[in-house]
Amino acid sequence: MPFLGERFGNPSGLYAFGREAQAAVDGARATVANCLNARPSEVLFTSGGTESINSALVGIAYAMRRAGAGNHIITSAIEHHAGLHAVQFLEELGFEITYLGCSDSGHVSAEEFAAALRPQTVLASVMLANNEVGAVQPIADIAEAIRDYAARRSHRVMLHTDAVQAPGWLPLDVHALGVDALSLSSHKFGGPKGSGVLFLRRATPFQPLLHGGGQEMQKRAGTENVAGIVGTGVALELSLQGQADRRVRVRAMRDRLRDGILARIPAATVNGCQVDCLPNNLNIAFDGIESDALVAGLDERGIAASSGSACSSSTWEPSHVLMAMGVPIRRAVGSVRFSLGESTTDEDMEAVLAVLPEEVRRARGGSSRLASAVKVADQPNTAPLASHRLERRDMDSLFGEEWVLGSESGQVPRGLTP
Ligand code: PLP
Repeated sequence: MPFLGERFGNPSGLYAFGREAQAAVDGARATVANCLNARPSEVLFTSGGTESINSALVGIAYAMRRAGAGNHIITSAIEHHAGLHAVQFLEELGFEITYLGCSDSGHVSAEEFAAALRPQTVLASVMLANNEVGAVQPIADIAEAIRDYAARRSHRVMLHTDAVQAPGWLPLDVHALGVDALSLSSHKFGGPKGSGVLFLRRATPFQPLLHGGGQEMQKRAGTENVAGIVGTGVALELSLQGQADRRVRVRAMRDRLRDGILARIPAATVNGCQVDCLPNNLNIAFDGIESDALVAGLDERGIAASSGSACSSSTWEPSHVLMAMGVPIRRAVGSVRFSLGESTTDEDMEAVLAVLPEEVRRARGGSSRLASAVKVADQPNTAPLASHRLERRDMDSLFGEEWVLGSESGQVPRGLTP
């Protein structure tokens, strides 16, 4: 807070206030580097996870292609939209993208990854932990596959990981992970919103996205968000303390919540991840509901949950992660995610279990026509990045007969019948 008030200097200023601000930024950089087992010169501060991910993907891909190394990128179909949309942008710029699918637990396979490597591959980006189902991805194995390939072909492939969901739960040692770039978002580990970190290993080819001043070692122009940066350093360090105990305590609470829900509510299914997953994440499908209705009902009771669907006034798209996992669409549209945190208590779990059965009953009443509106074939659609948009022909009737299944191209996706 002092950096928003009495210590308001600009780190680029040569006056005392400026030097003080620069020292604070340098201190935070050293702290973050220490947390990541990196060098301070490998740590850039950004405006959040989205900027870090976009900078890494676009900046590295562009620099690699400019160096004549190739134009192929491997990623997964279950990345956060920050990653997916960045590679879609690169696709428009002429890059070829391979989207890896995942298992029904939400895990990407290191073997499939290895098989996707080719002489033109310059960049790979796979998230460390999925934000919707918590699946922890085999990043160290993927890094090893790249090393093997590189040794046989003397060919460099850069590896980025979106580690936004990992701090506080998983080790973040960039050497153990074997990554060249790693993205973090400060508010996910108790830091300020609108701040983030990009680790960029020394000598990684990189074209900055932001042009202007020479801040952040010429890699990210613009006056530094000093308060955000200082908060990031403190929060990341705190998130590493007591991590092992936190994992055990929160996992036990999460498991109690899961077991309580399954015991009290019929036709509820855990989506995916049970092993190799974050300890604080629970994603559950309630058959016969529309997730946003349940999320709204819970919100009225003071409980914040989220749905992975993207809803607009005319379309409704279930989570791309659940669809890639092969979750049937009728389950995907009724899936809700509960995220536990450091401060979550047993009483919070009891409070959720006390109101959830009634709220699910209520949501089921409200969406009783869902089943007849959306007819779903048994065969799930697991084609990476297939679109599963539901179009709302009648805005007034959320679950009226007017809902039809369609894809962006206007065709019905494989495995679904209108
Ligand atoms: N990546 C993952 C896995 C996320 O969960 C999020 C945000 O929820 C982001 C990226 C984007 O981070 P930010 O909102 O800081 O831009």
